[in-house]
Amino acid sequence: MESKNFNPFQMAQEQFDKVAEMLNLDEGTRALLREPLREYQFSIPVKMDDGTVKVFKGFRVQHNDARGPSKGGIRFHPQETIDTVRALAMWMTWKCAVVDIPLGGGKGGVICDPHNLSSREQEQIARGWVRQMAKNVGPVNDVPAPDVMTNAQHMLWMLDEYEVISGGKFPGFITGKPVGMGGSLGRTEATGFGVIFTLREAMKAKGVNIVETTASVQGFGNVAQYAIRKYVELGGKVISVSSWDQEDQTSYAFKRENGIDVDELLGITDRFGGIDKEKAKELGYEVLSGEEWISQDVDVLIPAALENQIRGDNVHKISDKVKFIAEGANGPTTPDADQVLEERGIFVIPDFLANAGGVTCSYFEQVQSNMNFYWSKEEVLQKLDEKMTSAFKAVYELSEKKKLYMRDSAYVISISRVAEACRERGWV
Ligand code: NAD
Repeated sequence: MESKNFNPFQMAQEQFDKVAEMLNLDEGTRALLREPLREYQFSIPVKMDDGTVKVFKGFRVQHNDARGPSKGGIRFHPQETIDTVRALAMWMTWKCAVVDIPLGGGKGGVICDPHNLSSREQEQIARGWVRQMAKNVGPVNDVPAPDVMTNAQHMLWMLDEYEVISGGKFPGFITGKPVGMGGSLGRTEATGFGVIFTLREAMKAKGVNIVETTASVQGFGNVAQYAIRKYVELGGKVISVSSWDQEDQTSYAFKRENGIDVDELLGITDRFGGIDKEKAKELGYEVLSGEEWISQDVDVLIPAALENQIRGDNVHKISDKVKFIAEGANGPTTPDADQVLEERGIFVIPDFLANAGGVTCSYFEQVQSNMNFYWSKEEVLQKLDEKMTSAFKAVYELSEKKKLYMRDSAYVISISRVAEACRERGWV
């Protein structure tokens, strides 16, 4: 196979083309959906702490907003490119559509490295981004959120700048705000819990009793921790979890046959997320190479760390016992490995369905902010469960009816919904 430089936008377009073919989409709709509707590229001049002026490059891509305002994060990253932003914006369109929330897909970014910037400099970048984009974003057309290396503080600076420019209070302009400043309860739990709501439904559909199942999880961050908590609450047993060790610059898996304990492990985790190996051994954990998360003899694998983790070169390590893979991370499975999983009949809950709990809860945040009336955590999580469950059922039913792989079924649903909205609006 020829080797080519990995371009995420090309990959997103190839995925789209495959499903467009399956759906027999007309040429006009294909041409519209395989490109973003709008793109903005701009300069953000910042007076640095040392008195010099530095100019940062900013982006916003609105892939499609036929179903509602665009939604998607803004990342600060030194390797940010317009093609990464385009791909992520397109994936957001499909993710919002698969859970049937009335939002489109967007994404933004700034080429910068927050590690080398003071808090004041980051604030100037955040405010500068909004100054350039204020006319083209907002509660009724495009709602940003945090992403890689941006957080609740960046969102508040951005909201403040937007409100100064707009001359009013618009908490629904942005999500990922701190609770008490327009944020939603339940957002911290949302993605991990959502992964398990879909896994629970998959097990029901396949007649598997969750109480009799075991799982191995890759990652021990926000998504992984809440996924483990919910899975254990429902009766499952996680026997292995892996995380990145900043000091050793490698990953380790922590295994205990009678089940891992999230709080116990958090008690021995450093601020970079690394788990103390010696203390873990004292608590009865076996410490293995991080790559071994994939070869455990379990019923469920939950990749919840980063992309490209189940690949052609390691997919054969997956035990015959594994029946389900719930993709908590974005893009954890490469296309060649995906084909093997499909052939082996492993039930895969694809990333943009499994981890859509995050954007669903962001949508709830936007709704609450627009109403200026906030729900209890129970209410948020109950609504989240309903949304994730019905999204799963729609994808599963179609996959059964048309004999489709779950990932293809999810794409078919999303792309059909967006194509239909474009048609109904008379765009195509
Ligand atoms: P996080 O930064 O909180 O956690 C990442 C975890 O992965 C850490 O525990 C880290 O130690 C671990 N890790 C990194 N490299 C590893 C390796 N090689 N082997 C094993 N573990 C490794 O991130 P998160 O918010 O939990 O996100 C995880 C994934 O889920 C990402 O792909 C993210 O894009 C996706 N996601 C997150 C959300 C959300 O709401 N947080 C929503 C949708 C998708």
